[in-house]
Amino acid sequence: MSYDAIVVGAGVIGLSTAYHLLRSSPGLRVAVVDALGGPGMGDTSKSLGGFRTAFTSELNRLLASTSVRFYEELQARGRDVGLRRYGYLFLATEGSYDALRSYVGAGSRFLDERELSEMGIRTRVSGLEDARGLGLGDIVGGFLYGDAGVLDPSSILEYYAEELEGAGCEFLYNAEARLLTEPVNPVGIPGEPFPWQEVRVRGVIAGGREMRAGSVVLATGAWTGEILDSLGAPLPLRPLRRMAYSIPAASGNLRRLLDSGIPPLVIPGGVFLRPDPAGAFYVEFGLRRPYGPGDPEPAAWELGALPVLSSYLSAFEGVSPGDSWVGRYDMNIVSATPIVERVADGLVVAAGTSGSGVMKADAVGRVASALALGLDRAELHGGLRLPSDALSAPRGEERLVI
Ligand SMILES: Cc1cc2nc3c(=O)[nH]c(=O)nc-3n(C[C@H](O)[C@H](O)[C@H](O)COP(=O)(O)OP(=O)(O)OC[C@H]3O[C@@H](n4cnc5c(N)ncnc54)[C@H](O)[C@@H]3O)c2cc1C
Repeated sequence: MSYDAIVVGAGVIGLSTAYHLLRSSPGLRVAVVDALGGPGMGDTSKSLGGFRTAFTSELNRLLASTSVRFYEELQARGRDVGLRRYGYLFLATEGSYDALRSYVGAGSRFLDERELSEMGIRTRVSGLEDARGLGLGDIVGGFLYGDAGVLDPSSILEYYAEELEGAGCEFLYNAEARLLTEPVNPVGIPGEPFPWQEVRVRGVIAGGREMRAGSVVLATGAWTGEILDSLGAPLPLRPLRRMAYSIPAASGNLRRLLDSGIPPLVIPGGVFLRPDPAGAFYVEFGLRRPYGPGDPEPAAWELGALPVLSSYLSAFEGVSPGDSWVGRYDMNIVSATPIVERVADGLVVAAGTSGSGVMKADAVGRVASALALGLDRAELHGGLRLPSDALSAPRGEERLVI
């Protein structure tokens, strides 16, 4: 079987890449291959669906803002992708105030302690035992950043998947792909390519089939680092585990907090809180060090996320999550910006989304498809043209990873 392009990974980055390949070159033979049973079953399904255009790296701001405008335009055309602009409220302690003001101050309204208290946020926490134990500081104010809110990753995936089916894209699920490589300078000895030989990528082996392609795009999220290490083309990519919880808010204090219209909160202590007006809160909590494989340790909630939450929001005191899951950020450990790079002849990588890949997926897919097609420039939504190697050169470090 032979294709113009094969995209490995049916997460939001892979589907966006395939979508833009076919949009810019209709009629191309494109296949999407995934080891799991359907679209978005990797980390895209773990996402909390937050979006923001606040980043310290100019490229990240550009990728997020043009992608969000693209999703917004889909909605304006009648395709609901759940995009709602609630803002993000960044809570500042004395220690984080200056940094937050420089990162998000420009697009924000500052809320003082009194306004935060009226929203149900406890600002003076240093007297509380839990807060002392976790080293949590008093809140001196909050930056309500406007160009932020929530979107529905599964609706975005559905849109891409439907469009791709309509455009004749082939999907192969439950098929782990291995790269099909050939030596650049063959010596004609059986067993090539040997580990010391430079290789070019000619396709993939997946589902018991050899699938040849002009270009392979690895959109394999947190799996990418390992795949590239085995190819001898390492990039600074490392998976970082994140815990996520859903907390029903059907009644009582949590329901009242939800009904008050509280925006998504970025809370000191590594907690992100996303209200869902349908009747729940979603919580994301970052670990400094990895647990072993398996489900979330109950202690991460009881001794980690809960004391942080209930210190700042009394409505969470004694609350247990209804559900919990673990996901992985596909971290670019050098700059926390996506990496879209041609790493070998025939192979483009689109990864390193560093915890904010859904909100940037449209732009990342455009750059990856341009690179796979051998174009010099990628056109982002709105018409801005970027050199297609813009995400492979060294870039400024992103400091606002939530
Ligand atoms: C808890 C959590 C909360 C998050 N919240 C947000 C948020 O609020 N907003 C936001 O924008 N982002 C958020 N993110 C980040 C976001 O989910 C990711 O950046 C994004 O989903 C990455 O998409 P992807 O397509 O690169 O990876 P994935 O969705 O993981 O897709 C990669 C795919 O590659 C497949 N694959 C891997 N290896 C192979 C192989 N050898 N053969 C075939 N298939 C293979 C996998 O099966 C997988 O389906 C969050 C992430 C986590 C973990």
